[in-house]
Amino acid sequence: MSESTSTPENAASTVETFEFKAEMKQLLHLIIHSLYTHEEIFLRELISNGSDALNKIRFRMLTDRDVLDPDAAQQISITLDKEANTLTLTDAGVGMSREDLMKRIGTVASSGTLDFVTEMKKGDGPVDAQLIGQFGVGFYSAFMVADTITIDTRHANVDSVGLRWTSDGSGSYTIEQTDRVERGTTITLHLKEDKKEFAEPWRVRQIIKKYSNFVDFPIHVDGEEVNTVDALWHKSKSDVTDEQLNEFYKFVSGDYEAPMGHLQVNVEGRVSFKSLLFVPSKAPRSMYQEDFQFGVHLYSSKVFIQDDAKNLLPEWARFIKGVVDTEDLPLNVSREVTQNSPVFAKIRQIITGKLLAMLKEWSVEESDRFTKFSKEFGMLFKSGLSSDFENRDDMIELIRFESSVKEAGELVSLEQYVDRMKEGQKAIYYVLADSRKAAELNPNLEYFAANDLEVLLMTEPVDSFIIPGIPKYKDVELKSVETADLDLKKKKSKDKEGPSKQDTKKILDRFKKVLGDRVEDVKSSDRLVDSAATLVVGKAGMDAQMERMMKMMDENFEGSKKVLEINLEHPLVTNLIGLCKDESNDALVESTVLQLFEGALLADGALLSPREFVRRMTELMVAATKN
Ligand code: ADP
Repeated sequence: MSESTSTPENAASTVETFEFKAEMKQLLHLIIHSLYTHEEIFLRELISNGSDALNKIRFRMLTDRDVLDPDAAQQISITLDKEANTLTLTDAGVGMSREDLMKRIGTVASSGTLDFVTEMKKGDGPVDAQLIGQFGVGFYSAFMVADTITIDTRHANVDSVGLRWTSDGSGSYTIEQTDRVERGTTITLHLKEDKKEFAEPWRVRQIIKKYSNFVDFPIHVDGEEVNTVDALWHKSKSDVTDEQLNEFYKFVSGDYEAPMGHLQVNVEGRVSFKSLLFVPSKAPRSMYQEDFQFGVHLYSSKVFIQDDAKNLLPEWARFIKGVVDTEDLPLNVSREVTQNSPVFAKIRQIITGKLLAMLKEWSVEESDRFTKFSKEFGMLFKSGLSSDFENRDDMIELIRFESSVKEAGELVSLEQYVDRMKEGQKAIYYVLADSRKAAELNPNLEYFAANDLEVLLMTEPVDSFIIPGIPKYKDVELKSVETADLDLKKKKSKDKEGPSKQDTKKILDRFKKVLGDRVEDVKSSDRLVDSAATLVVGKAGMDAQMERMMKMMDENFEGSKKVLEINLEHPLVTNLIGLCKDESNDALVESTVLQLFEGALLADGALLSPREFVRRMTELMVAATKN
């Protein structure tokens, strides 16, 4: 913001001009000059701001009636003037101070601006204005339809003054003091020439019915009340239609798609509450950000209290949107006290249980819907295993993984795995990897493929964190395919004879000598079929993927030493056994052993310096291509 053009002493009587910040200018330029679908949502944004402002003053007045106009009607009034081509919206809400006008209206959260600008620039067709709600640039959406906007406002504090903010969105705005007497805010849009439809009462009523029907203050258009819908969550389930549910979901969430599903819970008892909760159809883009806002609105007897009630659901369910309405809360205490009250804890326990029961039902009866859920929210859900101990057992039943015996994209549960286990199979086998492709290329899988054993392909980053916490499922151990002491019996191919005992000992000793303390041990492998060597986890070691995660979090983390397993039937090993018989081959044997070892490290993503590896490979290729 640039300096004011007038001095503070005479600010009261003069008009001050302020420049928008560069990124705001860019945002406004885009808003003003883009083509839209659904530009009518500007009205939803303004009504929603008015309703927020009314909620704020209503909440304050529960405990403090020393405010301006304590008896003002709690409603939103819209007046339309076709002659003047204006739409004017008035609320008797909390109003704004000079600082609010500069800090809240004059600037928007910069992350919101940038995200929005990026999104807008993506396509070259018309922009879907419904996106705006997700970026926190709501007020400015009015510049889609208005060429000048004026805000007349007065804050609810009794010592406040009337203020007027005006801008044409081009580069600056002005603020001046006025003699407004009533509390609240009046926003006047001077409509663009080609947006006259928004001065038509029928059109404005239609928009309100579509987007703002559930606002819980009366909305008047030219004196006539438009929204008449009762709180849906107070109706019995059978009286609520799917269409109403969808509309209500869109209203509480700002989403424009129908939800994936909903849950209505009404409880009368030690605590009494009514709730209507929704699972969105897509994970919100910011779901993993720390400051992601919880989306459950808290009401007390139909009166709105908070729109981001924490602690009503566990962290893993923070994508849930909807309403919880209870009379059992002390409203005259702080948010923190409310959120940590036993009433909250009890409500949370009940709705979390119901939510898990609903997910269980989907998983049994609606596998498509449940697969969608797992793909959108599975990662966050899994992360809940390490914090939600109360529901852990139920949650373990609901986690899903890809599987070596299923197509890519198909997900399986631990229960399904156990039900399919082969006779004599002792463990649930899994491999941790960055992707299905990487998992499938892991040489440690060869044995399992050759023996038709199912392996869970754990490809989500969160899997590495939760797996150590699930040592067993229904008394069956979970084992990484990289764990050294798998109880394996190799399916021997009849025509292949391994080397003699003596040769085996010799070649293993040779490997150990070359590698020294770079490995914990060198062993002959029962798990390899096509590859020559692989690294497996030593006695106390960690799975390779898990080790990589640890290194990402702590750069000083030193991994444990690995056991190198070699495939005695592999032609390369057979050749090496032959070469070892003549001392003149020592250098070649040594290079090959090092190359095999570093190649295995590379495959695990654990080779620190590829330079030496590449140099050695070049040497070996020179030797191989000599004629
Ligand atoms: P958002 O509503 O997502 O915060 P907006 O750009 O729509 O973003 O509004 C910015 C801020 O301006 C609001 O958070 C609020 O503090 C203030 N504001 C907007 N409209 C009003 C109003 N009618 N009454 C009081 N404050 C308002």
